[in-house]
Amino acid sequence: LVVMQGVNKHFGSLHVLRDIDLTVDEGEVVVLIGPSGSGKSTLCRTINRLETIESGTITVAGRPLPEEGRGLAKLRAEVGMVFQSFNLFAHKTVLDNVTLAPLRVRKMRRDEAERRARALLDRVGLADQAGKFPAQLSGGQQQRVAIARSLAMDPKLMLFDEPTSALDPEMINEVLEVMRSLAAEGMTMIVVTHEMGFARSAANRVVFMADGQIVEAREPAEFFESPNTARARDFLSKIL
Ligand code: ATP
Ligand code: MG
Repeated sequence: LVVMQGVNKHFGSLHVLRDIDLTVDEGEVVVLIGPSGSGKSTLCRTINRLETIESGTITVAGRPLPEEGRGLAKLRAEVGMVFQSFNLFAHKTVLDNVTLAPLRVRKMRRDEAERRARALLDRVGLADQAGKFPAQLSGGQQQRVAIARSLAMDPKLMLFDEPTSALDPEMINEVLEVMRSLAAEGMTMIVVTHEMGFARSAANRVVFMADGQIVEAREPAEFFESPNTARARDFLSKIL
């Protein structure tokens, strides 16, 4: 579903993505880990073209990334993204947050958009919160609304960039549970996270990055039991 080949990216003199080759198959869950500044967020952001690249190619569903305009809007609908900060519209209700893009971008009828939004809110365990405003919800609830909002566009792929890092510990699991069920239903996902329990149980592959490079990409059980490189061993010893 996603093919990255020879992707390079600099920020000024800083080489943040170095010859990245990464293929993500349909239905696959890839967990991206690595030290701070290794390029995980930047890699995610190149896939929905929030960042441009200088060389190499990226295709999503067989198509090269569009440069601009309508193609870009379509790409952003196909590739959902959930960030550490939930980025909900503060002055809109939960229901309106979820229906907004389908109404504006998809030109969906309101009754249809609301019906689908309620089904999605039910799926993330928030059926009874539709009329509230984001500030009236906990962080974990807000993040689940953000996931429902992305899903409302029927994405082919979901990118998660540290979706639980801003949450209090007791709320992390409710968000990971939603992500686990999405994975179980076959959603293709790229997830940047420090939650190694999630990586072990939900990932098909763990991709370890350091200094803008993919250092290891392996099945979680193998990776965690016997990392091939000193860098990965060093990283794991610090976080586990
Ligand atoms: P973290 O775990 O801290 O989120 P990361 O692996 O996601 O780190 P990135 O955010 O991709 O790392 O950043 C990679 C490098 O690029 C870092 O050195 C960062 O400071 C730098 N960088 C990121 N975004 C920009 C930007 N817009 N302009 C300049 N430098 C940037
Ligand atoms: Mg990051």
